[in-house]
Amino acid sequence: MIPSSFDYHRPGSISEALDLLQKHGEDASLLAGGHSLLPAMKLRLSTPAHLVDIGRIDELRQIRQDGGDVIIGAGATHHDIESSDLVASGAPLLAQSAAVIGDLQVRNAGTIGGSIAHADPAADYPAAVLASDATVEVLGQGGARSIAAADFFRDLFDTALEAGEIITCLRVPGAASGTGTAYLKFPHPASRFAVCGCAAAVTVSGGACTSARVAFNGIASSAFRDAGVENALAGASLDEDSVRAAVAGAADGKQLLEDTFAGQDFRRQLARVYARRAVLAAAANA
Ligand code: FAD
Repeated sequence: MIPSSFDYHRPGSISEALDLLQKHGEDASLLAGGHSLLPAMKLRLSTPAHLVDIGRIDELRQIRQDGGDVIIGAGATHHDIESSDLVASGAPLLAQSAAVIGDLQVRNAGTIGGSIAHADPAADYPAAVLASDATVEVLGQGGARSIAAADFFRDLFDTALEAGEIITCLRVPGAASGTGTAYLKFPHPASRFAVCGCAAAVTVSGGACTSARVAFNGIASSAFRDAGVENALAGASLDEDSVRAAVAGAADGKQLLEDTFAGQDFRRQLARVYARRAVLAAAANA
């Protein structure tokens, strides 16, 4: 339970952090809230020789409006996000998912950048990031890149981030009027991580669904949008029966995770139940 030894660096700016990453290469790891990295270091699953602590870089923590988009700094804590009026109105799925992460201590320290970079399949944000159609903004020695959420989450603990890159913020586009959202999860009773989480954003006009984004976490090796469910919802009336029918094929064709707590059949059933509940809750918020 004791990490291997490391040198600790505390850069004052993003450019200083980038320089440290370049200087120390594979031996360096960014440290944000430390709530995923430090447990891994204590188990010696991760043994960086240099820790680059970006937790006190103010520019990484900003939450602001940019035109119709909401910008959420990678260093914003889960608590910053759940308690921001701007996020609640302009990026509600992020606020809804932040509010159900771990406990108060975890939400006070953990950051959205750390969570999505870690890409734990059971983490809460990834489905919300996908269903918000957000873009992940990153900076490296080669300059800035914008990565669509759909391209960012690749596999178990695997993302499109390249060596030496820092996530600077998430850009969440404004939603069309008549859009409601909901994030619901079946938490593991011990860890509170998602065994199945579902994020839904539905736009309703004239009593029918004109567009839907539905994403899952917890059930597969990485979070994913379910095109089958989204297509089935398009044009549907979003009452209990039509939503139940539209989500009947949730997670079909997807290789699901299996562990001692939840097998694949259970996870598939959870996907249907939580998709129905999340879509109905999102429609009620529209
Ligand atoms: P760190 O642990 O500091 O870093 C994690 C990884 O991200 C490291 O590899 C680091 O190098 C990298 N990184 C950090 N910031 C950046 C950046 N800006 N750019 C690029 N790479 C970066 N999560 C949930 O979603 N739901 C839960 O219910 C939940 N419960 C938890 C319960 C406990 C008891 C604990 C300890 C954690 C829990 N978590 C949960 C995880 C928590 O949300 C973590 O805070 C989060 O996963 C990681 O964020 P962090 O800021 O702590 O990152």
